[in-house]
Amino acid sequence: MELERHIRTIPDFPRPGILFRDITPLLGEPAAFRAALDGLTERAQAAGPGAVVGIESRGFLFGAPIADRLGLPFVPIRKEGKLPAARLTVEYALEYGESRLDIHQDALAPGTAAFIVDDVLATGGTALAAAKLVELLGARVAGMGFLIELEGLGGRERLGAYRVDALIRFR
Ligand code: 5GP
Repeated sequence: MELERHIRTIPDFPRPGILFRDITPLLGEPAAFRAALDGLTERAQAAGPGAVVGIESRGFLFGAPIADRLGLPFVPIRKEGKLPAARLTVEYALEYGESRLDIHQDALAPGTAAFIVDDVLATGGTALAAAKLVELLGARVAGMGFLIELEGLGGRERLGAYRVDALIRFR
């Protein structure tokens, strides 16, 4: 299955000069969505995790079904202020300004191997912040899986300490 065909490229979204990779055509094509889940599940399984961590919000679309397929706990990492129970927060830099991500303090037992999932790897800032949250809980990152890697933005280099897998690469 050629997954790339199901990704739509939108110029100048959300800002002028940005080439946005839109995954909604893939989500809307059951065979393509399933093939993407098959591929990411395989990568996750190879990393031997004890939990799957999804990054809000598109990371949930892939992370939750992968966890279900592997019979593993699913842990959401959310944008600041959405999680109701005791939480840890990390701040990270965006291209313009900064953002924060939260995780529940009891989401991962110390020592748990976590597989982090998101739709797109760009600069790696979001995934690195997610890895920090996992490690702040005393858990460890078994690997990271992305549907799409945008090459040339330094993401893979920035995540050099981790095992990183992507199903589709765009230059
Ligand atoms: P990074 O932190 O690696 O620079 O950006 C990755 C985050 O931004 C991911 O959570 C991802 O959902 C979002 N993102 C950045 N660029 C794109 C894009 O072209 N398409 C989609 N679907 N998400 C993007």
